[in-house]
Amino acid sequence: MGSGRTRTGAESPRHPCQDCGACCAKWRVEFYWREAEGRDSDHPVPQGMFEELNDRLRGMKGTTDKHRPRCAALAGRIGESVACRIYESRPTPCRAFEASYEDGIRRPRCDEARIAHGLRPLRPEDWIVHRLPAFETPLELAEASRLD
Ligand code: SF4
Ligand code: SF4
Repeated sequence: MGSGRTRTGAESPRHPCQDCGACCAKWRVEFYWREAEGRDSDHPVPQGMFEELNDRLRGMKGTTDKHRPRCAALAGRIGESVACRIYESRPTPCRAFEASYEDGIRRPRCDEARIAHGLRPLRPEDWIVHRLPAFETPLELAEASRLD
């Protein structure tokens, strides 16, 4: 979600969320109805991907399941390789969700989701390779990692 939640494969090198997706299968994802309105949003949440919760709120389909929530927009296998099928149109809670240590700060909700899916929480070093520019050889990569 957000800086954190599951991305498309467009970025390189690989973002840790692309190997995870746990937070897309942990909680109900609800958002204000206007986010699904084309006239109010440049990237409305696509029809068919959400359900009406009440007059004001919509919920991402699949996340309202109390026992095994999993967003209908999530593709792939959690903990292996995932992508959000509506990444450009994902709702606000997904945009706001932050991955642990992406900006150097631990995010307990990210940790909680990962642990619930049998994954260890992210560590600061998980971001090192993601932040490095492309290197030609393993030696260049190893040397750059030592500088961090
Ligand atoms: S829309 Fe669904 S799959 Fe996409 S980031 Fe949000 S919860 Fe995850
Ligand atoms: S639980 Fe954390 S690491 Fe996993 S997809 Fe969500 S934000 Fe990213």
